[in-house]
Amino acid sequence: MTVGVLGGGQLGRMLALSGYPLGQRFVFLDPSPECTAGQVGAHIVGAYDAEEKLTEIARRSDVVTYEFENVPVAAARFLEELVRVFPPSRALEVSQDRLAEKTFFTDLGIGTPAFREASSREELAAAVAHVGTPAVVKTRRFGYDGKGQYVVRSDADVGPAWDALGAARLIVEAFVPFEREMSIVGVRGRDGDVRFWPLSENVHRGGVLRVSTPMSDAWTEALQRQAEDIATRVLRELSYVGVLAIELFVLPDGTLLANEMAPRVHNSGHWTIDGAETSQFENHVRACLGAPLGSTRMVGFSAMINAIGAMPVAADVLRVEGAHLHSYGKDASPGRKLGHVTVRAESRAELAEQLARLMPVVDPP
Ligand code: AMP
Repeated sequence: MTVGVLGGGQLGRMLALSGYPLGQRFVFLDPSPECTAGQVGAHIVGAYDAEEKLTEIARRSDVVTYEFENVPVAAARFLEELVRVFPPSRALEVSQDRLAEKTFFTDLGIGTPAFREASSREELAAAVAHVGTPAVVKTRRFGYDGKGQYVVRSDADVGPAWDALGAARLIVEAFVPFEREMSIVGVRGRDGDVRFWPLSENVHRGGVLRVSTPMSDAWTEALQRQAEDIATRVLRELSYVGVLAIELFVLPDGTLLANEMAPRVHNSGHWTIDGAETSQFENHVRACLGAPLGSTRMVGFSAMINAIGAMPVAADVLRVEGAHLHSYGKDASPGRKLGHVTVRAESRAELAEQLARLMPVVDPP
């Protein structure tokens, strides 16, 4: 069978690399002639809203999925008339607008930071007054990795926040004094089977994910159950098929608040390639194909470090026992995700040791 993928970045590339052993073929639609997934699969160069390109990928595919959540919802709806598309377009629609997303979570009884929308300077001031300071002002759409955000610490910051972001429709969120950030990655099959990988603890710098550690020291059964309950509500409500990730804030009392969801494979699940019985990529492909899902059991202890802006010297990574290098075949530029390294060990103590050796190599300060 052929899996069509909207988007040709590293997530698409890793989907293909996990799907080939299952005997699948891949075709990507991406506007960039240089996209990294084009190195490992057929590539249609075109815009996501070009109907003739969408028709072509539908014709060449048995099932279509996406690896990028800013694909226009209209494109997914257009495709849904021609071919099976997973996850459903409503998942895209909800996750593309932070206001729709937080409203969706709230309607499902899932806790979020307090939020209010704001479309004018006056509404922004009123929204900040409502949620209190500090507050985080975010653009409702096209924000990622902390881009399109402004932290308002006092009323005096409202004017500058409006000047910085007011061109777009905004959401104001209470600033959450979280203890740590975690994410739950799960998968739902076409038959409704649902599996979750262990919660990952995520460390960000400059709004960008640096290190993900599944089942870290902070992991508890209670947190896992709470996160699975949150994600199960979302998966069921959307009749979801495929991998879904939800980013969570952990409060000091152990309560989880949902920050955002990604209707796709997720950076905090990359460790599953080397550290789980079945990776998020393989299970996403299995789900899209209607095949049985694989075990999400963790194998040993692992952690993933992103290589951002520069790739580490390969030999420096490979000489560390248990380290697995994943290069995305991209040209280096500042802030660009170029690859990642997963390190796997037999114990948490050994993992900490190997991680300490790898951090200066992969993510120098
Ligand atoms: P986002 O683009 O919403 O994932 O935000 C990027 C990062 O900013 C998150 O991973 C958090 O570290 C931080 N952040 C976002 N929203 C809030 C919030 N309401 N309170 C505190 N920190 C936040």
